[in-house]
Formats: sequence, structure tokens, C-alpha cells
Amino acid sequence: WNVSLTEIQKLQALDRQAHLHSFTDPQAMVQAPPFLMQKAAGSQVMGQGIQLLDAMAGLGNVNIGYGRAEMAEVAYGVMRDLSYYHTFAGITNPWAARLTELLMEIVPSQFNKVFYANSGSEAVETAIKMARLYWKREGREDKHLIISRDFAYHGSTIASSALNGLRVMHEDFGTETSEDALHVEAPFWYRFGGEMEFEEFGRYAAKCLEEKIIEVGADNIAAFIGEPVQATLGCIIPPKSYWPEIERICRDHDILLIADEVVTGLGRTGEWFGQETFNFSADIMTLAKGLSSGYQAISATLFNDRVASVIEGEQGVLQHGFTTSAHPVACAVAAQNIKILQKEKLIERIRDDIGPYFKTKLEELLDIPIIGEVRTCGLMAGIELCQDKETRDQYPLEYYLCQHIAQAALETGVIVRPAGNVIVTCPPFIFTHEDVDALVRRLRRAIEFVH
Ligand code: PLP
Repeated sequence: WNVSLTEIQKLQALDRQAHLHSFTDPQAMVQAPPFLMQKAAGSQVMGQGIQLLDAMAGLGNVNIGYGRAEMAEVAYGVMRDLSYYHTFAGITNPWAARLTELLMEIVPSQFNKVFYANSGSEAVETAIKMARLYWKREGREDKHLIISRDFAYHGSTIASSALNGLRVMHEDFGTETSEDALHVEAPFWYRFGGEMEFEEFGRYAAKCLEEKIIEVGADNIAAFIGEPVQATLGCIIPPKSYWPEIERICRDHDILLIADEVVTGLGRTGEWFGQETFNFSADIMTLAKGLSSGYQAISATLFNDRVASVIEGEQGVLQHGFTTSAHPVACAVAAQNIKILQKEKLIERIRDDIGPYFKTKLEELLDIPIIGEVRTCGLMAGIELCQDKETRDQYPLEYYLCQHIAQAALETGVIVRPAGNVIVTCPPFIFTHEDVDALVRRLRRAIEFVH
């Protein structure tokens, strides 16, 4: 934190020389040096002499807040005592065993088996592979297609990114031509609801899945995958009618249901899992971000008995895994994270206190002419811009209005993220009432400045 300007410039130059950044225009980095984030505590991050309120919890993952000494102590102990050992060929470690025990206590009751990996993308990749393996071992190899949705975000590896509903993520890599991933309509009422009532639209959006299944043939489809709330691409919150209907359709057509709870899992919606908030039960569930609150790279894919009993059947080795699957340090850190969520009742706090306050205060922004909708669920929100509140006309994306607002928000001292015509915020669970007030005040100033 106490680094001189010369030292900062030296580090920026070193980074710029050879570091290719995720989701960054390399040319923009030629113009401007990378921002050097140096320190963080609670809900605040600090770098280059600037302190910012992080209303994004990093990338929607630092749920318990930054700089927890107990997390560092746990990691230190495991690094000292075992450091690393793999979990191939039937080997485990105490921390993997304890995390598994803890997870089995908190996950929805249908899940009784877990596979560990390092990122959300790998958890999704695992879910896809296991869905295919399930059908293969059931003697139905033709069931291989995965159906996803517009506005979905499921990851950055080849198979997971093929599921994304964002053209720009496909164009350069040829994944849009993937024959294995199909897309159906998202339950995005504000944009596509037309004259329909909210709940009616939920049933309509679910019906789009059923129509696609009939068109393609259930005999060719392995699974449907969806995020309970589509977080990354605009915090799209479905009507309550949507998910139970999706579950019914998957059951009726004998298609596995994968809940991608990488963002919603571990409390973000004000319940432990999005499946509880939206009243449905998946066959497979993915977890990542909030599993360790970003303190270590770890993800998990969970299976119900139907799927687990087949993939564990007597048909040979599971040909899947990563060197760092169930890494002891990551498992210990994840377990400590869950204990903190439980001890400090952070999820109950979202449901009963800070979540409702966050909603009420953010809705005050609706008095700004260009704010069309403020949608919240637990401690996540999408603030949708429009040119006209009556017609809901969108601003052309080429205006980059949300990017400009997010940039201006940095000047006012708060981090939010742009997603098309939506400003997304996803704060740490420890956000206080004062933090919410500061977020809304600073965001209002940024919107008014840009508009
Ligand atoms: N699934 C969802 C719902 C996500 O939001 C993300 C990341 O934002 C991923 C998967 C991919 O996770 P990762 O970036 O850890 O690979």
C-alpha cells in the first residue's frame, strides 16, 4: 500500500510487457497502463492511492469480504502441514473430506456426491461431461446436446463458452457453430415480455424450452443448463412461475436439469441456493465463486443419486479430473468460508435485513428518466437503462452508456459493472446500510454526470 509512484509505474510497465489480461482489449492497454490493485479490507479495495467501495465483490465472489485473517491462517496451516497432494486413484486429504461433509449438510438434499475442480468453467465442463456419460452408460449415446439460453454465461472454456448467449464470445473462436449447444429464450420480461404479465411470461419462456425439445427431439438432448438468476449478462431475474415449469418440462421429456449456481450458490439470493429461492430441484449443480469467497480457486459439481449411481456404476474409471482437484488448501479455505457464512448468519442477514434495504434504496434510482427497471434478488441487482420508460426503447449499444457510467462511478468511488444496457451490482454480504447508501448516492452522481 505504501508503494512509491516510481515503484507503481515500474510494476505497471512490467505487467504491460507480457501479461495478457482476461476480457481486456490489448490495444486499450497500450494507451493506458493497468490499474494496480494493492490492498483490500471488508468492502473496500485500494490501489494507486485510490480507495473504492466494491459493490461487485470482485467478480461477484468475495462474499465474506476482503482481508479475513482467519482465512489466511487456515491456508497457512495447510500449506505448512501438507501443501499439496492429488486426489487421483482413490487418495484424499483431511480438508477435502471435511469440506465434503460440510457441503453435504448445506446443499439441497437431492445432492449426495461432489466432484471438485478449480473454476466455474471447469465445474460446468464437468457437468456437461457427466450428463453425457450418464446417457452413454444408460445406453442412449444419442442424447448429447445441451440446451442453454440467450444471455447465459457459463464460462470461458470451449464447451462452457459454447453455452454462452453472447455472440462476441463465439465470433473469434468458432464456438457459435458448435453442434452441441443450442439456445432458447431467456426469461427476460423487461425486454421481451411485451403485453404479458410477469408470471405469464415465466410460463411462456419455459414453453420455449419445450418447443425446442420437440423440434430437436428429446432423444438427442442430454441436458438443459441455466443459472437461477442470469447474473453476468444483466441480472435477469425470472418470474417465480419459470423454474418449476422448466423442471416439469425436463422431467416430462427425460432431460437432465443442470443448475449453474456459480454465482447464486452459497447465499447470493438470500437463501443458500438459488434452487431454494426459485423452488426447483436440479439433477446436477455447479458451484464456484462463493465457495471460497475468491480466497482460493475451487469449484464443485454436485450430483443427485440418479446421476451419481450411473456414473459410479461398474463401467470403469471416471476419465476426468484435474491435478488440483480437491486441493487441500482450497478445500480448507472453502470450509472456513462456509463456517463464516454460518457463524455470522450472513445469508439470513441478506434475506431479512440488508437485501430488503438494498432493494428499497436502489429503487429510488427509478426517478431518473433513463432508468427503466431496477431488479433485485437477495444481494444482486440489475439497473436497466432505457431511452423511453413507456416504450422501453433501448439505447444503441454503440453508445456504451453503461460502460461510461461504470467509469464515472469509479470517479465517484464505487465499483459496478456494465452489461449491455444494464448496470450490475453484486456486493459482499457484509455490506452495511451505510455502504448501500454510498453505492446509491455515488451511482446516482455517475448516471447524472454521464446523462
Ligand atoms: N457459470 C456462471 C453462472 C458464471 O457467472 C461464471 C463466471 O462468471 C462461470 C460459470 C465461469 O466461472 P469461472 O470464471 O470461474 O470459470
